[in-house]
Amino acid sequence: MSDSNELIVIAGAGIAGLSAAYRLQGHADLPFVVFERAPRAGGYSRTEQYGDFRFDLGGHRFYTKKPHVQQFLEELVGEGLLTVDRLSRIFFNGRFVHYPLSAFNTLRALGVGGAARAVLDYARMKVKTTLAGAGPEGTFEQWALNRFGRYLYEVYFKVYTEKTWGVPCTDLSADFAEQRIRGLSFREAVKDAILRKGEDESLVRRFHYPRRGFGQITDAMAAAVAEPNRLLTEHDVTAVEHEGDRITAVVARRSDGTTVRQPCCEFVTSLAVDELVRALDPPAPPEVLQASGALRYRSMVVLLLVLDVPQVSPDHWIYVPAPHIGFCRMHEPKNWSAEMAPPDRTAVVLEYFCQKGDATWQGEPDDLAAAAVADLGAIGLVEPDWVSAWTTVRMNKAYPIYQLGYRDHLDLVTGYLARFRNLYNIGRNASFLYTSSDHYMDMGLKAAENVLGHDHDLGGIGREEGYAEAGQRAE
Ligand SMILES: Cc1cc2nc3c(=O)[nH]c(=O)nc-3n(C[C@H](O)[C@H](O)[C@H](O)COP(=O)(O)OP(=O)(O)OC[C@H]3O[C@@H](n4cnc5c(N)ncnc54)[C@H](O)[C@@H]3O)c2cc1C
Repeated sequence: MSDSNELIVIAGAGIAGLSAAYRLQGHADLPFVVFERAPRAGGYSRTEQYGDFRFDLGGHRFYTKKPHVQQFLEELVGEGLLTVDRLSRIFFNGRFVHYPLSAFNTLRALGVGGAARAVLDYARMKVKTTLAGAGPEGTFEQWALNRFGRYLYEVYFKVYTEKTWGVPCTDLSADFAEQRIRGLSFREAVKDAILRKGEDESLVRRFHYPRRGFGQITDAMAAAVAEPNRLLTEHDVTAVEHEGDRITAVVARRSDGTTVRQPCCEFVTSLAVDELVRALDPPAPPEVLQASGALRYRSMVVLLLVLDVPQVSPDHWIYVPAPHIGFCRMHEPKNWSAEMAPPDRTAVVLEYFCQKGDATWQGEPDDLAAAAVADLGAIGLVEPDWVSAWTTVRMNKAYPIYQLGYRDHLDLVTGYLARFRNLYNIGRNASFLYTSSDHYMDMGLKAAENVLGHDHDLGGIGREEGYAEAGQRAE
């Protein structure tokens, strides 16, 4: 450190930034400050409280294949960690079917006619690709057609994917499938149905969950930040100053409008990458600003409905791809841990995908609740007179969208940021990588270790083999 006022600055107190902070805590010679825009830490890995009810922003399961991350989790949550056998269903073709879908369940849900069409279409696609070769796999549509045939693609993959991402499958990059549902094909699904249970499957079917909600993890990390280090909430990073190949200072605006300028020796950031680029001072070159501005994110509104019944279903998640139903997925926090709700009542949390500023985003909670009650009634889950209260939470930039062309934009931006030798880009929106929290924790831990002198490759985290979910979407 060249200036005694310099600190390590961590931007964002989500699970990634807090993991970095936790690993740096205890190195008294390397003091840090965390700037967090929101009134409390945790980001999207926080658990909210509403009256007697606790809820995640969409149920968060924890699983990892990384022993050091598992060990980290156990250190944080200790006795409070539950092991849960997952039970999920999907409302598919007008009925509830176990999820992730097995070949057997899918064909059964399609009925005799639909199953025959699926098998025939699959056979037709196989013959065609054997004779003429598989079509190029740039888009998600082509990726799915090459593995499932047209019928299954249209009745299952297309509807759910377009409802989730809000863009046509022809405009969605195949990278999404490669990262999220890699390894899945009709043939593999049939094999899976016959052989049952591999290592990956057991991973998917059993997960860890903290007794008081996923946010117990981030709460434990935030509570560990102690003098001389600081975690400052309601501090919005507005400018990131740089000179040569270094980030030199970070400016944050407090909620009262005043600002603080913090000289920094190392900068660990989990800001959305487009916001980081926009905050650079002096400004980034126009082509970098343009490329980062072209990256798009999907936002969400979650709706909590409090119900005067002890339980709605035994499921952890219920997926609802049907386009005529507004929400995409539901979870019942009580089924994840009994401590999330009182014994005689329950609550459900519905996830609505949207773009910031659209009708769903701007909708009144009362209107959303009324529509939700009608939808839940239509699929036979909830009676209107069970509902006694509700609340909503808006989540801007919940997911990066892998729209066609995003990779070129991202490469340009990350290529530019690579010049800053003391900048560590970690977390979901900073890395523009759609994966699960264990990877973002790993990024935080390894960024901190790099600050301490290691040389981990942060860019490779979350792209490891073997993490794909045998279904459309989990996190
Ligand atoms: C619906 C849903 C379900 C999910 N389910 C799972 C699951 O089952 N299992 C799992 O492992 N993961 C799950 N995830 C993923 C997980 O929630 C996120 O990936 C994780 O929280 C990302 O952590 P992060 O630290 O990268 O980002 P965030 O949680 O977004 O944290 C970033 C922090 O930076 C702050 N910030 C942003 N800009 C500024 C600024 N300018 N100045 C200061 N602070 C700023 C934000 O307020 C926020 O607190 C799910 C995510 C969603 C949306």
